[in-house]
Amino acid sequence: MAEQAVHVTDILILGANGQVGWELQRALAPLGQLTVCDRRRGDLEDLAGLRALVNAERPSIIVNAAAYTAVDKAESDSTRAHLVNAEAVGLLAELAADLDAWLVHYSTDYVFDGSGSQPFRESDPTGPLNVYGQTKLEGEQAIIASGCRHLIFRTSWVYAARGANFARTMLRLAADREELRVIADQVGAPTSAELIADVTAQVLAQLRHRPDARALAGLYHLTADGATSWHGYARFVIEQAIGLGFPLRTSPEQVLPISTQEYPLPATRPHNSRLDTRKLRETFGLTLPAWETHLKRMLVELAGEKSA
Ligand code: NDP
Repeated sequence: MAEQAVHVTDILILGANGQVGWELQRALAPLGQLTVCDRRRGDLEDLAGLRALVNAERPSIIVNAAAYTAVDKAESDSTRAHLVNAEAVGLLAELAADLDAWLVHYSTDYVFDGSGSQPFRESDPTGPLNVYGQTKLEGEQAIIASGCRHLIFRTSWVYAARGANFARTMLRLAADREELRVIADQVGAPTSAELIADVTAQVLAQLRHRPDARALAGLYHLTADGATSWHGYARFVIEQAIGLGFPLRTSPEQVLPISTQEYPLPATRPHNSRLDTRKLRETFGLTLPAWETHLKRMLVELAGEKSA
């Protein structure tokens, strides 16, 4: 009998050029053969192409780090945000179910309404305040409804040494301006793409060996430990950056706190972005670092690039 040529990929990564996608390439490499797709090879707006890609690769794990992440733009571009964050995710879930593959997906604290001051648990009621949060929630719901084996990691305030993020924006602005006015009444945990990728790898590695792997499928909150406001975050970045020799015009004292109302944006943001990570820590025996730890490391990396 002729041998059938079947191309089997272990892990298919989508959104490889994003902050998390980039780090996943490093973190997941020891776990198996990777097929790495950016928007050109895995476009989530092209559902037929996405179906063809997954069916050709037949991965045992699909990791979707692609998303429509432009929170303010999504308010006036809801059709595209919905296509990428909900419809395409639903298709990935359906394909994963057909292949009996795992689907790893990332979601956001913006699925919550941000009320109160306690960290949100996975089981708390959702109530997104903006289009981005609504479409991300619909993506989660599509995955759960599909019955595929899945891990959904909800995270917050993601940054990395490459890509667009708040920390890098603060550095850019502080190089030009003497004063920065930053929102002080929204609280969350800055979380590095590196941490998200490393935890993803650790969880997947454990699932391979745990007899109860199927029962561990589900929704998990994944952020760094602790919390701060955008103002506290900006101040910390600037303090550290000055210590590392960045030529900034803004001093930490010149980072001034303002309220959300003083900085209106198209998309409403939650005041409380805290996520309770206990389920993740206890299920997989993980310790999550304080938010400052990886942030310092990222700033050291940026300082090294500047002086190189
Ligand atoms: P980035 O914005 O850094 O990366 C998103 C990636 O998705 C980009 O590389 C982008 O491609 C890609 N993408 C967008 N549209 C498409 C498409 N139609 N087809 C294929 N790829 C597409 O996001 P992060 O890495 O920060 O986010 C990772 C996950 O974490 C996402 O699910 C996000 O919703 C979630 N999250 C992020 C937060 C944050 O603060 N950034 C906070 C909470 C959750 P291209 O480079 O070509 O534009």
